Amino acid sequence: MSPNPFGIRGYLIDAPAYGSLRSHPDGAIVIADGKIAEVGAYDDLRKRQRPAPIRWFDRGTAAIFPGLIDCHTHLPQYSAVARGESQLLPWLRENIFPVEREFTGPRARQEAPLFFQEVARNGTTTAMVYAAIYEDSCEVGFEAAEKSGLRVILGKMMMDLGSYGQLQPKKILSVSLIESERLCRKWHGAAEGRLEYAFSPRFAVTCSEKLMRSAAEMAQRFGAYLQTHLAENAEEIEKVHHLHMAARDYTDVYEKCGLLTPKTMLGHCIHLHAREIDAIAAAQANVAHCPTSNLFLGSGLFKLDRLLNAGIAIGLGSDVAAGPELNMWQVMRSALAVQKARAMIEPHLPRMRPSEAFYLATSGGARALGKSASIGSLDVGKEADLLVVDLPALLPYGKIGARLDDLSTEDILALCIYRGGPHATLETYVRGNCVYRAPGCPDPE
Ligand SMILES: [Zn+2]
Repeated sequence: MSPNPFGIRGYLIDAPAYGSLRSHPDGAIVIADGKIAEVGAYDDLRKRQRPAPIRWFDRGTAAIFPGLIDCHTHLPQYSAVARGESQLLPWLRENIFPVEREFTGPRARQEAPLFFQEVARNGTTTAMVYAAIYEDSCEVGFEAAEKSGLRVILGKMMMDLGSYGQLQPKKILSVSLIESERLCRKWHGAAEGRLEYAFSPRFAVTCSEKLMRSAAEMAQRFGAYLQTHLAENAEEIEKVHHLHMAARDYTDVYEKCGLLTPKTMLGHCIHLHAREIDAIAAAQANVAHCPTSNLFLGSGLFKLDRLLNAGIAIGLGSDVAAGPELNMWQVMRSALAVQKARAMIEPHLPRMRPSEAFYLATSGGARALGKSASIGSLDVGKEADLLVVDLPALLPYGKIGARLDDLSTEDILALCIYRGGPHATLETYVRGNCVYRAPGCPDPE
């Protein structure tokens, strides 16, 4: 348990809006009752009069960021990262369904706690996650998420076409709905709201209209989230077109089923027509951009400017196991790489800066999850979800010759994005509770 209240000293950096960056090079945060109570220069905060003295964590050369937000990832797939060389549909069949099929019983119980420990070690404080199709895969996922202290939105994978389970096809739909409802009733809002439920129809290729409609109705009834995949790959889109001949386009399939809502997270959204972008924006649905995954599977280059200009809220997703790591710094790096690759073909495109990738992984993700009021930046009153990063650990020669004073705030973000990862995470906090502390990182004095 962390003392209450307590202060942390370090280089504060956050991005309250796309394209804007704030920093306090020798800054500090005071945390009380799980919330950010004070933010400012360390010298000012240290001298401030308070009813009782507070304990300080002096992290000197560390950077303090809002916790990273992963808007799209898959719990049962993590053991199968970096596997396969094909595109989406054959990759799912050959590499992923066999792994998800095994994610039940002892295996799920063993892997779920390890998964969330890895999420915390990577500095991610909020994750939106798919389980496997089994009720127990989601149940043990929630149990592990509860113990981890992380903020987690999780849902049982729903699919009734071409599923990998043992159930008779006739029963798949009703069982999937009953189990999803039971999980939602038990876990949505648990741990004082730290855990939430997402109805999770996989995508239009593996879901009947009835399943998608029912998922949308239940999400609305319980005030829960919805998550699915949209327009990731050309073959997938072709398949959806054949399955739903009456639909105007892929997005229209989801629209007609009621899946586009302000609580919906749409993974990928690479190959969208202008009409589809407008429909997503009009419904205030949200998008998880998953660039490491899109590069791994060769799915395509996300049209960031088009979706941003439409006013769509966009977060980033690791999309493990198509993305090879839970490391959101790597996801930011790939987001920059994708826009650079586009600019080679379309030179008029605006350049994307490290601070903008960082915005998507923090405030942008918070907005996409409807949580801007409580997380995503270092504002007083928000919940204290924080990441403390050891900056010298990212320098080529470590502490030897470290010249952090020469670096601008944008340089420090670039250093984290191009060299960051769990090896540099000192501490991860959710609601002021330390959910990960690196070995050797000293406790507060
Ligand atoms: Zn996915």
